Formats: sequence, C-alpha cells, structure tokens
Amino acid sequence: MNRRNFIKLSSLALLPILSCQKSEKSDNILDFDISFHSDMAVGHLVFESHNFPKGKTENVDYLIVGAGIAGLSIAWNLRENNILLCELSDRIGGSSGSENFEGEVFGQGAHYDLTYPKYFGEEAIELLENLGVVKFNSLIDKWDFVDKKYLISPHRESQCFNGIDYYDELLPEGKTMDEFFELMKPFIGNFMLPTRLIPADYQHFNQISFYDFLKSSIDLSPEFKAAIDYHMRDDFGGTSEDVSAIAGLYYYANRGYLTSETEIFSPPEGNYYFAHKLATQLPENTIRLNHLVKKIRPVLKGFEVEVIDIKSKTIKTFQANKVVYAGQKHALQHIMPSQKKLFATNQYVPWLVINFVVESDLNENKFWQNEILSDHSSFLGFVDSAAQMEKTKNRVLTAYYCFRMEDRKYLAALEENKEDVVKNTIGIMAGYFKIPSEEFAGKIKKVFMKVMGHAMPLASPGYLFNDRNLYRPHSKMVYAGVDNGRLPLFMEALDSGLMAKKYLKEG
Ligand SMILES: Cc1cc2nc3c(=O)[nH]c(=O)nc-3n(C[C@H](O)[C@H](O)[C@H](O)COP(=O)(O)OP(=O)(O)OC[C@H]3O[C@@H](n4cnc5c(N)ncnc54)[C@H](O)[C@@H]3O)c2cc1C
Repeated sequence: MNRRNFIKLSSLALLPILSCQKSEKSDNILDFDISFHSDMAVGHLVFESHNFPKGKTENVDYLIVGAGIAGLSIAWNLRENNILLCELSDRIGGSSGSENFEGEVFGQGAHYDLTYPKYFGEEAIELLENLGVVKFNSLIDKWDFVDKKYLISPHRESQCFNGIDYYDELLPEGKTMDEFFELMKPFIGNFMLPTRLIPADYQHFNQISFYDFLKSSIDLSPEFKAAIDYHMRDDFGGTSEDVSAIAGLYYYANRGYLTSETEIFSPPEGNYYFAHKLATQLPENTIRLNHLVKKIRPVLKGFEVEVIDIKSKTIKTFQANKVVYAGQKHALQHIMPSQKKLFATNQYVPWLVINFVVESDLNENKFWQNEILSDHSSFLGFVDSAAQMEKTKNRVLTAYYCFRMEDRKYLAALEENKEDVVKNTIGIMAGYFKIPSEEFAGKIKKVFMKVMGHAMPLASPGYLFNDRNLYRPHSKMVYAGVDNGRLPLFMEALDSGLMAKKYLKEG
C-alpha cells in the first residue's frame, strides 16, 4: 500500500468526521462547489522556493511577520514608522479571517467578542476606543460596542441540541449546577483580560487544570463534565482536563456567564471586523499578502529577512532594523532555528471551519450559536448568520471542528476526502434542523472549508504568564500573538501587539 492510500485509510478510521457510515441515498447530494483552503499547504512552497530567482535587497525599519490580529495590532501601533507587514495568506486576519460570496463577507474563524467590564485592562480598550469600536457607557460602567447592530439579540443567542432535544443551557440544571455557580462566584472580577494583568495572588490557578480545581470542591457527573468540556473546547480547544483553572475561571466568572450583563458582539464577518478596522488605518502598501517569511538571520545591523513572494515566485530579501514575529511560533524551527527552544513547550490545537452558504429560507430555527453534543466528539456545532443580520441575500452556517492534537497528521487527507467531510457534516446539521439530509443539501449554494493545522495554542497548566519577550536573546526581535503565553482570545492578541511596541522601545 502506498503512503497516500495509507494516510487516507488511517484518517478514515481515525478522524470521526470521516468515519461515518456512508448511506447510498446521500451519495449524490452534493450539487454545489466546495472551496478548500489549508494553511498546511505552505511546506511544499518552501521546498519549491529553492529554485526561485532572488530580487534585490530592500531596507525597512520594522518587519512584521503575520497579519493576524496581533500583527495588525503592532502594525497599527507603529503606523507612523517605516513598517512592512508580510502575510503568507492571500488575506489578512489569520484565525480571525473571512470569506465572501456574492459580495457578502462572512467570518471563517473567530466570530465574537463580549462587552468589556471596567476592570479589564485599559491599554487594549483605549486602542479599541481610538479605532472607534467601543465607547464608555457611564450609566452601566461598561465599554459598549459602537456598532450596536452587531449585538446578538438575547432571545437568539444560543440553542443546545443533544441529538434528540433542544435546551437553552448546556450545563445540566440541578444540585451540581448550583454548587458550580457558588464555587465560581468569589472569582468574579479577578480574572480579567489581558491575562498578564491577573493579580499575582490568583496566578497559581495557572498551575492546575480546571478539572482538578473543580473536582476538589464538587462532584462532577459525567453529563456535567461533558458540558463543561464542550465549553472549554469551544473557546480554548481543550477539555477541562487539558486547560488550566484560569481558562475555566475566566470563562464562567468573568465574562458575564453568571451575571448575564455581558452582550455578545458578532458581526457577520466575525472578528475579521476588527482585522479590517486595523488594516484600513495603515498607510498604503504596508501589508504584503502572499508573502511568506522563510528565514530570519541576525546580522550586524538588525536582521536579514528572506521572504517568498508566492505570486511572482521570487525571493525577496529585506534588511530590517527590528522584527516583530507575530506568526505561529512552531514555524520558528525552520525560520530561525536558534529561537525554536523559546517556544518548545507550546502545543497547538487544529481546527476545521466549514461555511455553508444556504438559501435564506432553509429553516425557521435561527439561533446564533448552535451547540451540538453528538457522537462526533470533534464537531462542536455552528453559528448561523441569520441570527446576526436579518436581511442578507445569503444565509451562512459556519460549522466548527476542533480536533485532538494527535490527529493533526491526518488533516492532510481532508482535501482528498472533502466530499465525505461535507456529507457527514450535512448529516449532523440536518439532524439538528430535523430535516432530511437531501433537503438540507438542496438548499446549499456553496461550501468553503478552511483547515488550520496550528489554529490556537493550548492553555494547558503552566502555559500562561510566560512572555518570552522577557528573556528573548535579540533585543530588537520581539514576539506577539496569543501563542506567547496568552489565552486564545481577541483581546489577548490585540494586547500582545501593544506590548510588542513597549518591548521594542525598551529594548
Ligand atoms: C476556529 C477558531 C475560532 C475562534 N473564535 C474566537 C472568538 O470567537 N473570539 C475570540 O476572541 N477568539 C477566537 N479565536 C481565537 C483567535 O485565534 C484569536 O482571537 C486571534 O485571532 C489570534 O490572533 P493572532 O494574531 O495571535 O494569531 P493568528 O490569527 O494565528 O495569526 C497569525 C498570522 O501569521 C501568519 N503567518 C504565520 N507564519 C507566517 C510566515 N512565516 N510568513 C508570513 N505570515 C505568517 C498566518 O498566516 C496568520 O495570518 C478563535 C480561534 C479559532 C482557530
């Protein structure tokens, strides 16, 4: 058996989305185009680039790697300088990216943020205020989002489905729930964002898992644990056993879960909304898309940076005084091997996002977040654009799969099996709407798949409060991004850009 077939067969056996029984009936239901995008496809380019011609060297003051929220944040903060931001993809946003269909933009990754209480860190909020995104509301002592049309109506917020029944709340009601909420209450107001501001007295919660923290105080039934694990995976990519107690305490005690005061901000384009706001205020030609940073070498005066221009198939060299590395850090092993050990303990969770563009009359069941507990443990549910915006030409259902880290090696087989993945996902979603798969499939206009092999860092015990900038070997090369000891959240990414500027100034 050749390697390709082996991978295909092993993935069929191991990835739950591929291992469903195929029904004869559903075999021919895919009468639409599937667009497939994977950030894991860059390896071959690096290999191929050995033969690319080299252009002449250009000088730049600051070279920034990666146009995710962190890279855009530092670019915005340095916008009055001579900066260049290289992004390997054909678009900005990274895991807060977007897609579009018939002129309508929709999110293809991070999709929401929450109103900020007063006790959250001021610097990142100030940046959002400067961008015109938030405004302080002294009546409720909170930062409000300016674009109120993107606040999700409370009666459309979420619906949970266990394969049979629908619920308002995923956590099972009863004695455990009461005990759980009592346990969370004293922590309200202590676990703010950005996490670097969490008081020292509470930082020891970074050393234990959320599960160990809970289990020492309450009896968790398997159903209750499954619901908590769902929440943790949905936001942090790991179960309550995988993530630190800080992740759980932030989730339940510090984002309005208990007080219901927090509003959900979720534009149809998801958190690309923020990426776009940052990018449009940058000077022209700051961002170079389809530019993959291949090598960074320290030289006498700064850094020599080798970049692959993917479109023109050439190698460009930049002489940069300072570098901000806001790409995922696992790639440092190839880009700057001497820095690999700085981030050696990072672990990354792979995700798959599937956008189904459907006819707007698909079904009357319209909730923003649709949480599905099914046998497909990696499938989390979907977000429905019909609960974000009433009147759009198309309705987009964005489905999320969060895989186990050990399954990353099988993701390469997803493209070849994309029809099966889509069919199986249709099966689960049609079940949620309680309609036949064929009826659901008949309403689909187009499907977009995006695989992110290193989508988010796992905030395991010990992960937080470990900013590598504090012991970086080159003072003029700093790191930004949520994978520098932060929770995988928008505000953390934004703040990491602010901090990068501070370090560069001090350095
Ligand atoms: C599926 C999913 C859903 C999420 N949902 C939410 C949510 O609803 N709310 C929330 O707050 N957070 C959410 N997150 C977390 C989200 O990741 C963060 O909020 C934030 O967007 C991370 O930004 P970042 O800049 O640190 O990293 P990334 O978004 O990973 O950006 C890194 C960028 O660097 C580029 N890059 C990497 N290497 C190179 C190179 N060598 N050369 C050039 N470019 C390079 C990448 O292409 C990418 O664009 C979600 C994450 C995922 C994966």
